[in-house]
Amino acid sequence: MREWEKNIRKTVPYVAGEQPDKPDMVKLNTNECPYPPAPEVEKIIKETEIDKFRLYPDPEASELTEALAQFYQVEQDMIFVGVGSDDVIANAFLTFFNSEKPILFPDITYSFYPVWAELYKIKYKTLALDKNFRIKKEDYYMENGGIIFPNPNAPTGLYEELDVIEDILKHNQKSVVMIDEAYIDFGGESALKFISKYENLLVIQTFSKSRSMAGMRIGFAVGNKNLIRAMKDVKYSINSYTMNRTAILSGMASVKNRDYFDLVRKKIIATREKTKKRLSELGFDFPDSKANFIFATHKALDITDLFEYLRSRNIYVRHWDNPQIKDYIRITIGTEEEMERLIGEIKNYKEAAC
Ligand SMILES: *Cc1c(COP(=O)(O)O)cnc(C)c1O
Repeated sequence: MREWEKNIRKTVPYVAGEQPDKPDMVKLNTNECPYPPAPEVEKIIKETEIDKFRLYPDPEASELTEALAQFYQVEQDMIFVGVGSDDVIANAFLTFFNSEKPILFPDITYSFYPVWAELYKIKYKTLALDKNFRIKKEDYYMENGGIIFPNPNAPTGLYEELDVIEDILKHNQKSVVMIDEAYIDFGGESALKFISKYENLLVIQTFSKSRSMAGMRIGFAVGNKNLIRAMKDVKYSINSYTMNRTAILSGMASVKNRDYFDLVRKKIIATREKTKKRLSELGFDFPDSKANFIFATHKALDITDLFEYLRSRNIYVRHWDNPQIKDYIRITIGTEEEMERLIGEIKNYKEAAC
């Protein structure tokens, strides 16, 4: 090993779901939305003045934070925006998780959390879910340097009622508690209503799922203004201009169209419930998802083999090698037609297998 190589920061990165781009594929592997963003977004992009690209964007992304403040009925200084919620959560880890005590999160959850913890050298402890994949709230009563989990959880899709969230908040007033609400718009109730009651609560959401804008990279956190100030101080110590002009304006346009947002969410929820029925009829078991995906297993089918079969049929779902969940596939909710194609191929597979 060369001398300089000894000082390289070694890290095992997060592995994102693959992004194939094949004609006629059904892409149900990374929880994107199958519908386009609000029509006003297209208008913004078409009307973007190229000349403005000479100039730096607004580091405060004010047009976007103002629209979000109105939508969620909070003050503008209670909102932090970033390049996807991955950027926002990474910033929050760096800002708030600086204790000698470990931060806590579930053992089965968004697999990016341990990656950030390792990168930033934050101690962490993972807590087992119960046998039904539920969070055991009592586990979170122990001393800690912070807490984070998604609600609904990923990849299970299970939503914890707000009394569970509040109970965890009540027992944890000495550290920052982050609720990652990437999937909250598909049927759960947001913990945003606790923001003024618990000043150590940070709620994080994204435009990638319910707002159909994964490719534009927009996420945000809402919290007490002192939390947000601290996040901005860290951000301005790394890169003031994380969000580009087009993202700021198209994000704003998306937030302003509440009717379209509600329409898309309702469509996804309806398709999800229909897909649950179809999967049940085919003998699948799954936690009762309140997200835009279903985490399914089958007693009589080899899930890894089914995953490969679907792939060979140009249908992409997500599967992990992690022994705890290797018998599950996570299926993103697509359009009605896409789900019909999935169900059809599962039937073909079953017939051939039996
Ligand atoms: C998708 C997802 C995110 C990150 O999404 P961005 O595209 O970075 O906004 C964060 N947390 C969970 C649990 C997710 O599933």
